[in-house]
Amino acid sequence: MGKRKSRIIYGPILSRRLGRSLGVDVIRNPSSRKNCNFDCVYCQLGSVTDKIQSPEDAVGCVTCSEVVEGIRHYHRSIEDIDYITFSGTCEPTLNLWLGEMIDSIRDISDVPICVITNSSLVGRKDVRQNLAKADLVVATLVSGYEDSFRNINRPAPGIHLEEVIEGLAALSLLDGCRLSIEAMFVESNEFPGNSSDREISRLVEVLEYIDPDEVEVLTVTRPPAESSVHAVDEKRLKEIARYFDDKLGRNKVRLVLQGIKRGRSVLKHENIEEEVYDLILRRPCTNEQLIDSLDISRENLIPVIENMKYRGTIEVIRECNTSYYRVL
Ligand code: SF4
Repeated sequence: MGKRKSRIIYGPILSRRLGRSLGVDVIRNPSSRKNCNFDCVYCQLGSVTDKIQSPEDAVGCVTCSEVVEGIRHYHRSIEDIDYITFSGTCEPTLNLWLGEMIDSIRDISDVPICVITNSSLVGRKDVRQNLAKADLVVATLVSGYEDSFRNINRPAPGIHLEEVIEGLAALSLLDGCRLSIEAMFVESNEFPGNSSDREISRLVEVLEYIDPDEVEVLTVTRPPAESSVHAVDEKRLKEIARYFDDKLGRNKVRLVLQGIKRGRSVLKHENIEEEVYDLILRRPCTNEQLIDSLDISRENLIPVIENMKYRGTIEVIRECNTSYYRVL
């Protein structure tokens, strides 16, 4: 197994929002740590300088048949998936075959389909049409102010918050998918974070305009790209959620706090080392997160981890007194 080589289909991962989620990565470019048009300060994949400017510039887009083949293969061994989720090491809307992929998956599976997007391209009609085919779109929006948007998401040139907001409002009007806005709150030693009263009040105005089906209030829980960035404390996060409840309606707002536990699944493993690698590639993981996601015992996991560390495919990093594994 070489560095940064991975399968298109990975997981399932145990997600705080989606339960047991089978991941689909639609750009495969082993020379890049991530394939995205943002470089968010909170990104779990680390920081890059080579942001993709547009879908037309994306290299390594996987095809519809590769995705279908991958799903077919996984269906033989997994029986209790909650979602098939387009996410991973890329921004999925950069692959313009996304809509066709969703249609093709529906031909072979009844599992609900989710797309996790950074919202950067929702100003484009073709991208909105692709997204509308999903059951659920989880779209990031960190601020109603252009400067905070730039500080936190660090978009490629040509991406502007106003177009993002207009695109999200247009997506919300389309029939089909549920739209969930992921409002990620961070604090930083280097720029004003987005959890101040001024930020929250503006974000609520924008959310009222977009009118999504749901808003998720959360903060970083894994090592971010920038060490100067840290989580908003739980007390403040709850205050924000209460304010959102008052303004947007309690049934729309979901506070996402760290840690969920699920029942055991019926996963069968073909190659535990590859499955561990595939998960860590997409996000740094602790032993406990790997054990929960892959449904394996600590006794089975530790020798695999030790072997990967010995061969230099992963390393240990520390964040908030917790050890995570990260792909080298
Ligand atoms: S967090 Fe998501 S949107 Fe932001 S840089 Fe990382 S992959 Fe891209």
